[in-house]
Amino acid sequence: AYVIAQPCVDIKDKACLDECPVDCIYEGPRKMYIQPDECVDCGACEPVCPVEAVFYEDDLPEAFSEYRVADREVFDGL
Ligand code: SF4
Repeated sequence: AYVIAQPCVDIKDKACLDECPVDCIYEGPRKMYIQPDECVDCGACEPVCPVEAVFYEDDLPEAFSEYRVADREVFDGL
């Protein structure tokens, strides 16, 4: 799945929302979140992000690696 990392915090541009074919991007209090079980890995959201916050989970920069697990936990148990 793709992951939205730290650059989105307090930005929430939402350009990604219009690109996602399965509507699996959700708004949180401070950033946007991708539901990892719904994401079909199309990659459409990545290039439209103006702050380059979107990464494929295996390509997350080390500085943002925590988002891979933390964002998934947001949806676990819902
Ligand atoms: Fe949606 Fe595709 Fe981005 Fe996954 S990679 S969140 S399916 S636009």
